[in-house]
Amino acid sequence: MEIGIIGGGATGLTAGYLLSKKGHTVAVYEKSEEDLGGIAGAVPIHNAYIDKFYHHIFTSDTDILSLIEELGLSGDMLWEEPKNGLYLNGKLYPFTNPIDLITFPEIGLVSRFRMGLAVLLAKNVRDFRDLEDITAKDWLIQKTGRDAYEKIWQPLLYSKFDRDADQISGVWIWNKFKLRGSTRQNISKECLGYLRGSFFSLYRRLAEEILSRQNIVIPSPAVSISPAPGGKVQIQSENGMNIIYDKALFTASPGELCQLCEFPEDYRQKTLKIRYKANICMTLFVKKPVSDYYWITVAEENAPFVLCVEHTNLIRDPDYGDCHILYLSRYLDVSDLFFGASDDEISAVFLAYLSRLFPGFDPDDILGSHVFRSTYAQPVVPLRHSGNILPMETPIENLYLAGMSQIYPEDRGQNYAVRMGREAAEILMTSKE
Ligand SMILES: Cc1cc2nc3c(=O)[nH]c(=O)nc-3n(C[C@H](O)[C@H](O)[C@H](O)COP(=O)(O)OP(=O)(O)OC[C@H]3O[C@@H](n4cnc5c(N)ncnc54)[C@H](O)[C@@H]3O)c2cc1C
Repeated sequence: MEIGIIGGGATGLTAGYLLSKKGHTVAVYEKSEEDLGGIAGAVPIHNAYIDKFYHHIFTSDTDILSLIEELGLSGDMLWEEPKNGLYLNGKLYPFTNPIDLITFPEIGLVSRFRMGLAVLLAKNVRDFRDLEDITAKDWLIQKTGRDAYEKIWQPLLYSKFDRDADQISGVWIWNKFKLRGSTRQNISKECLGYLRGSFFSLYRRLAEEILSRQNIVIPSPAVSISPAPGGKVQIQSENGMNIIYDKALFTASPGELCQLCEFPEDYRQKTLKIRYKANICMTLFVKKPVSDYYWITVAEENAPFVLCVEHTNLIRDPDYGDCHILYLSRYLDVSDLFFGASDDEISAVFLAYLSRLFPGFDPDDILGSHVFRSTYAQPVVPLRHSGNILPMETPIENLYLAGMSQIYPEDRGQNYAVRMGREAAEILMTSKE
């Protein structure tokens, strides 16, 4: 079969690799060469690459780990214990293990105990549907108390979902609890995984595998997809190419798909129910670490960024040279004026706040920086979301949709993107031509 795949991120490249391995002819469309890897793409630094957006994986991420193994990259997997912190009321608290929780002074002892219990017992909820009718807010208040909710969970939900925070389903937070509970080797020890040289090594490798079998990667955005005679699918790209495929797979957001196709109104209405938060992520290369934490959640009202991820406090790689790598991240609506601000404006606001959080931080220590934006960074997960999930089949015969928005009840992540790419490849191979 000849298959056109739109999107050279984790989902599209996994599907392309598996289809090409089975002897199908594949063309992967990506907007440009710099966009390969999608959200998990990377930029060069010294002798290595570093993710545009911070990434780690968990020991339970078996789909991506088996792909890494299949490609002979397991020797490059690094597993390290993170040190996490919570910035609240002008102070930075350690927040890595149960001892940190027990000694956390900002909430009462009973609330702390209830929080620990909620995480431990999350695995006992067998069916996510039991939580589809309750918001994360109400579930957290029920399980951990209002004090813990207001001081810890509310800022965390706002850090991810901004003005949608109060509408997020209990399924989303329950899943996070369940995931973190299941990745601990023992109650106090959790290891996070990183691929030496960035996760882009995996995606570059998948692209190489695809290309090695006489397939192509087209560095140009698809601008239209339409049905062609005989149940085939035609893809037109910005560079003027117009190719007819037996089947096509679209791996970006349903909203973007709608911009390329003529769909019936009822399908278009369904895609409108799928909403995303955007993300701004500033990568800073600095001479000195700003803290000794890997992951700091900033639980302050009106903070311009809500996460400070100091990658080199988890992974120290000589290939980074003398550089420390720090990410400052914020999720927001694409309509938020700040999302459209210039890189210089964003940098100025982020750096001023960084200096406030860490008075020892010296802007003269900055060796370089980038500001990356992702419009489709995190699907919003409202109540009864299972009813919104779109099937892989679309109203256009032999055109399939597989991406982040269909990962449910789990949340987006590279592991699930790999799983989705695998499932899509199987459906394309088994559905009739
Ligand atoms: C800030 C942030 C932090 C994250 N941290 C982690 C983490 O720690 N661990 C983890 O596992 N995951 C993390 N993730 C999630 C992870 O990056 C994603 O789940 C995964 O990369 C999604 O891959 P994908 O292929 O489904 O989508 P994408 O990466 O979005 O790929 C879709 C691709 O389609 C392309 N495209 C769109 N339209 C067109 C068109 N018309 N023509 C051609 N190409 C097109 C886009 O350019 C893009 O490359 C994080 C995400 C963000 C935003």
